[in-house]
Amino acid sequence: MSIRVRLTIWYGSALVLIMLLFASSLYVVMSQTLHDQIDHSLEEAAIAAARTLEEHRFGPFLLMEDLTQSFPELALLDKFFQIFGPGGQITLQSANIQTHNVPLSQVALQAALTGQETFESVRFQGAIPIRLLSYPIRRGETLLNILRVGTSLHPAEEMLHRLVIVLFIASPLAVAISMLGGWFLAGRALRPVDMMTLTAQRIAAGDLTQRIHTTSTDEIGRLASTFNDMISRLQASIRQIRQFSADASHELRTPLTIIKGEAELAIRKTRTPEVYRDVLTSNLEEIDRMSRIVDELLFLSRADLGEIKIERETVQLDVLVQDIHQQASILGQGRQINTCLVENEPIQIQGDEWRLRELLLNIVDNAIKYSPPHGTVELRLIRNESMVQFSVTDHGIGMTPDEQSHIFDRFYRTNNARAYAQQGTGLGLPICKWIVEAHHGHIQVDSLVDQGSCFTIILPLLPPTKPVKS
Ligand code: ADP
Repeated sequence: MSIRVRLTIWYGSALVLIMLLFASSLYVVMSQTLHDQIDHSLEEAAIAAARTLEEHRFGPFLLMEDLTQSFPELALLDKFFQIFGPGGQITLQSANIQTHNVPLSQVALQAALTGQETFESVRFQGAIPIRLLSYPIRRGETLLNILRVGTSLHPAEEMLHRLVIVLFIASPLAVAISMLGGWFLAGRALRPVDMMTLTAQRIAAGDLTQRIHTTSTDEIGRLASTFNDMISRLQASIRQIRQFSADASHELRTPLTIIKGEAELAIRKTRTPEVYRDVLTSNLEEIDRMSRIVDELLFLSRADLGEIKIERETVQLDVLVQDIHQQASILGQGRQINTCLVENEPIQIQGDEWRLRELLLNIVDNAIKYSPPHGTVELRLIRNESMVQFSVTDHGIGMTPDEQSHIFDRFYRTNNARAYAQQGTGLGLPICKWIVEAHHGHIQVDSLVDQGSCFTIILPLLPPTKPVKS
């Protein structure tokens, strides 16, 4: 059952309950008020009649005429009067009751004897409902007469009956109109949800460009924009995964094509042993490159899965930097690149020596790779309050700001770098970033095209202490 139907049913049921409560309270209050009014008018009529009786000293019985003269409204009220003797025998009654007999009840007589008035409701001739007031007229303690005033309850009952009919017709009508309104309002309120469902269905069918159009800032609007954000992130992740797969296949296909091409060329005719050696050497280089890519990819996917453990041991960083400096000098020898160790403060940190060596070597190797022949690379290791800062500066090809924002993406290589250095996978810096972050540090780059780059690694001297769990 849809929310819209359920809302309308709840709304309708609540309204039926309210209407029932309202109608029954209205009926009870109306009926009570009408009866009170009738009793009150009977009492007023009785008091007026008693006074008239006393003035006439029970002389000529002009009761009705006198009463209607003194109180003209009484004539309109459809009342009848009876006067009973102290024993309860009828002595006089007004003309409008004609010859009908409405005897005094024992209860009324007993009450009159003790000076109390009595209200009674009876059915006149077994059909017409009437209300009677028996009113004692006494002199001192002696009961002289019992005056009875009666009126028909028929108009009041007729009125209540009409009220019931009106309520019976009006209530279901009000409920029906309100339910229609509820159905309409629920539909309007839930329309954005329907739109979201439709968009979600399109997205599920594969169209990630779909978004929910919303301008409102209410609960539904907020849900829609959260949903849109989620889809944008999903779209970006999927794009990244696709890009990654395309890049990975491309990077692996290139060495494979080279190996295949060289091998095919070599076996086309008989060659000298030197040519075969050259081809095999070149093939081995490509195989090395491929296995490097596979190793690096494996490392990154294991890092993503949290399977790589980082050791926490004391590392003498300045000694490590010294080692890297020596290796860099060897690496730069071929193109006469000079690596200078400008600063090397003695510093100890807690970390994984093997991974830190890999990290520093990668950055230094890049600096050499992207420097021109006879260039200089400077290494600096300094302490900065509770942090340690290792920077590698080169005066090589450099990068644009846009390129700098992508160099930590997997397989990303600038066009300049591709043209400058054939060797390279575009996986070194993502691995470096992971190692730095695993040591609770961060890596940053400042670079200018054709001027050079400076990579800075900032690591905490002590790893952050984890809160102790009790
Ligand atoms: P690669 O194996 O291509 O060097 P990296 O992940 O180490 O892969 O680096 C990614 C890219 O960042 C490089 O291809 C290059 O475009 C850029 N890069 C890295 N270091 C430098 C540097 N010192 N100077 C200029 N560009 C650099």
